[in-house]
Amino acid sequence: MTPLASVLFPVAPVLIPVCRSGRHFQVRRIYCVGRNYAAHAREMGGDPAREPPFFFQKPTDAIQVALPGVTLEHPYPSMTANYHHEVELVAAIGKGGRDIDAFGALDCVCAYAVGLDMTRRDLQRAMAEQKKPWEVGKSFDHAAIVGQLHLASDIGHLARGAITLAVNGQVRQSSDLANMTWSVAEQVANLSRYYELLPGDIIYSGTPENVGPVMPGDVMDAAIAGLDEIRVRIA
Ligand code: MN
Repeated sequence: MTPLASVLFPVAPVLIPVCRSGRHFQVRRIYCVGRNYAAHAREMGGDPAREPPFFFQKPTDAIQVALPGVTLEHPYPSMTANYHHEVELVAAIGKGGRDIDAFGALDCVCAYAVGLDMTRRDLQRAMAEQKKPWEVGKSFDHAAIVGQLHLASDIGHLARGAITLAVNGQVRQSSDLANMTWSVAEQVANLSRYYELLPGDIIYSGTPENVGPVMPGDVMDAAIAGLDEIRVRIA
């Protein structure tokens, strides 16, 4: 091990507070699931019936934590004129593995939070049309907003319950976790065939339909039944 004192520019760990524990979860990797609600897959031009889950990543330092009762100031990013909200359930991995069986996969999930997979939709679409990686549409500074984590040992595992997002008090996205095409357990099982999962990994589980744009000054309220709501203002 290299002692940290010998590192020229040490990077601060990325931490998410864990509700009622007084502790933090250190983020290793951020995985995201694409098109995991049938109605959203349709609005994105896909065929929900035949698509297996697919995954992409965001950089770990894209995390922005939204604490309960506090309005998070979120900067409007560069290079976009169509900046979209995607409310999502975030699952945190506490036990890793490879080729994890879906039946035991929830044993690997230690906590949940509300998240926003913020998206530069115009860049994502333009790159997809050119058959180029749509990295710049999804992976950018501050693109991974997350609320504090709730331990599964406190609240259980989340398979159903309302998931909503309002902009300036108007509900835009409203669905139920039960509408996910691939459950969190199936996401973990599938993802672990491509990557070894380790404690510290988190998974954004996909967004329901009615994604849409936000502008500077807009206030987003994101909620999932059983978890702390988050409030985010676009600066
Ligand atoms: Mn998403």
